[in-house]
Amino acid sequence: MSGLEDLPPLREALAAEGLLARKSFGQHFLLDLNLTRKIVRLAAPLDGAVVIEVGPGPGGLTRALLESDAALVIAVEKDPRFLPLLQELADAAPGRLVVIEADALTVDEAALVAAHAPGRPVRVIANLPYNVGTPLLIKWLTGPLRPAAMHLMFQKEVAQRIAAAVGSDAYGRLSVISQAVAEARIALTLPARAFTPPPKVDSAVIEITPRAQGPSAALLAALETVTAHAFGQRRKMLRSSLKALGGAALCEAAGIDADARAETIPVSGFLALAEAVKG
Ligand code: SAM
Repeated sequence: MSGLEDLPPLREALAAEGLLARKSFGQHFLLDLNLTRKIVRLAAPLDGAVVIEVGPGPGGLTRALLESDAALVIAVEKDPRFLPLLQELADAAPGRLVVIEADALTVDEAALVAAHAPGRPVRVIANLPYNVGTPLLIKWLTGPLRPAAMHLMFQKEVAQRIAAAVGSDAYGRLSVISQAVAEARIALTLPARAFTPPPKVDSAVIEITPRAQGPSAALLAALETVTAHAFGQRRKMLRSSLKALGGAALCEAAGIDADARAETIPVSGFLALAEAVKG
């Protein structure tokens, strides 16, 4: 029986299937296995884990994941053109790859884990399609999947916003919501030329480790509301940008300076404001 090491190089496999990248699917492939292995090493150890990969495409990252000691990889791909290539991978790693043809925005990953690998720790490792990266991150941070850690490739600028420190230009709603739920750090940056075809901008892998005791669903909902108002008018003082939620009185209840601007308020301050909104 042939194994992973017998598979043809990714470029050849793509050419043999006559596959060209589709812009509408955010397709920018990593065809260098040394790079995909490097990404998987960042996420190690994976032993015994079930890995969710969104957008396996031709399978470069999937191959590296299957070379690791992960128990199972569940790969969710929207573009059916890649299914034959992914089936070859599944055949080369019997019992370790489940390929699901679906839109990752609507698929229930927690149900997939319960069906295929119940009780295993969940990791998410993916070179995300840029057009849906942020809603997927929010889904995984706030939904039922409860991953132990995530290693996700984003446009560099989005990765910087997720990990941004208070007071920096990149600090905003995405930073506050992500950091309220998880620790986030940029683990690797990659130039656009590492991808085929190259995107317009550089990329970065962000490592996201959800906190054991994250905020409740009600507090998160309030946090989403507060940050939408505060950063919707980020140059205004909070007494003005949060007017619809109680303005200065709300800030006082939360112990926050009403004359401050959103970008100077740390995550803990936004959580206090969200508590006050929630009541
Ligand atoms: N993982 C591959 C790699 O690194 O070479 C491909 C990454 S490419 C940036 C993004 C992949 O996500 C493509 O294969 C694309 O078809 C797939 N994709 C795009 N939108 C998707 C969605 N909503 N749900 C699932 N897969 C999607």
